[in-house]
Formats: sequence, C-alpha cells, structure tokens
Amino acid sequence: MENPVRLESYGEGLEIEWSDGVMHRLAWRDLRFACPCATCRVKRESPTQPSPPVINSGSRGLTILTAAEAQPIRATKLRPVGNYAYAIEFNDGHNTGIYPLEALRELGMAGTV
Ligand SMILES: [Zn+2]
Repeated sequence: MENPVRLESYGEGLEIEWSDGVMHRLAWRDLRFACPCATCRVKRESPTQPSPPVINSGSRGLTILTAAEAQPIRATKLRPVGNYAYAIEFNDGHNTGIYPLEALRELGMAGTV
C-alpha cells in the first residue's frame, strides 16, 4: 500500500505524490463525482436522474443553475482521517465524502492510463 508523501492543490484539483514516486493529478470535479459517501453512491446508482429546472415561458430549454453549480467545483478543506483516508469538503457545501487512500490511488491510476 503506497502512501501520499505530498498533497497539494494545483488550482483545479489535487496533486498527489505517492511514496513510490508516482504523481497523480485529480480534478476536484472528478473527486466530487466519485464521492464515496452513501448519499452520492445512491445518487449515482439511481436510474432516474432528476431533470434540471427549465424556464418554460419564452426562453425554452434554459437551464437554471444553482449558485453552487454555476461556480467550478473546488475543495475548501482537506482533512486526514486516521492514516488511511482524507475527508474532502467542497465549495458546494458537501463535506461527507471520505476518500480512502486506495480510492485516491485508483482514481489517479484511471486518469493516467
Ligand atoms: Zn458525497
């Protein structure tokens, strides 16, 4: 099991340097999407996606984003959980995602293939 020796924000995501010298860049967007918390897991696996609200009078099909959706996803806080995981708090207010090191490593591997 590799451990991160360096974690750093590069603006749009998290840069992780692992103890075996491998370097990964994980976009906050991807991390947010891969959130392992129960709520997000259910949302991802749910077959019915709630459709975004649209204005029906005149400007058809205009999607109204919430304030949180309109700004790019970023992490506001990164907190170690024991020595096996990191809790990431996002600027959309979501803070229940705890990312085990294996999950971060897997995400990084998936992104560099
Ligand atoms: Zn979540």
